[in-house]
Amino acid sequence: MSGGAALAVDDLHVEYGGAGRVLKGVSLRVPAGSVVALLGNNGAGKTTVLRAVSGTLRLHRGAVRQGTVTWDGAPVTGTDAAEIVRRGIVQVPEGRHVFGRLTVEENLRVGGGVLANRTERARERERVLTLFPALTAKLGTRAGMLSGGEQQMLAIGRALMGRPRLLLLDEPSLGLAPRIIAGIAAAVDEIHRQGTGVLLVEQNSAMALSLATTAYVLDVGRVSLSGRVGEDIDAARVRELYMGVK
Ligand code: ATP
Repeated sequence: MSGGAALAVDDLHVEYGGAGRVLKGVSLRVPAGSVVALLGNNGAGKTTVLRAVSGTLRLHRGAVRQGTVTWDGAPVTGTDAAEIVRRGIVQVPEGRHVFGRLTVEENLRVGGGVLANRTERARERERVLTLFPALTAKLGTRAGMLSGGEQQMLAIGRALMGRPRLLLLDEPSLGLAPRIIAGIAAAVDEIHRQGTGVLLVEQNSAMALSLATTAYVLDVGRVSLSGRVGEDIDAARVRELYMGVK
């Protein structure tokens, strides 16, 4: 699994504000352009892994105590979050966090700010609106007025405007109806088909495993199970063993 890895997390230890370690030696790989699922219970440390990769840990008073994050062979541990975005890694945080008072169009413009070239920005905007046609009719609407599903589409769309090579998606299915989740899953699949890698954090293991080729299960800060989906890991096994659900 390590051959050709674009993202490599090795022996990562993280703590917040001097409290105990919430990650206790996490290692994982996201090969270039692949979808990798990161599963686990509430509080297992999934979001913390994403923050360590995107460089946003410090915003939450967290710190890497040990281990490394490497992107395309270069270390990103300790690198400024804006620089990590420029290098092609963009996080979509849990809870969507669109700019509620800005319109859909303005939110997309913010996301495209990292691209210097206007033609490229226009191309990415078209790609996002093709992926999420529902946003086209809402371009002039304030993001705060959108439904939960539309806000999730916008949050992902805004991230895509920066043309990432790796998208860090934190619980995109949270609080959404099954029909909407299916639409989000189809979009993630299409994003992957277009060549972007995805590290997908989910409590909805069925949704995540339907998309991912590889999955990791976190259990109180450690990887308790990992492997290829359908061979080493399937939804029933994850639910029974690690989420206490039959
Ligand atoms: P969830 O699905 O609930 O978001 P998670 O698996 O993503 O869970 P994290 O959010 O990474 O887990 O949290 C891991 C642990 O770190 C939890 O015990 C949480 O309370 C703690 N934690 C997260 N953020 C902070 C913070 N800013 N300050 C202190 N502790 C934190």
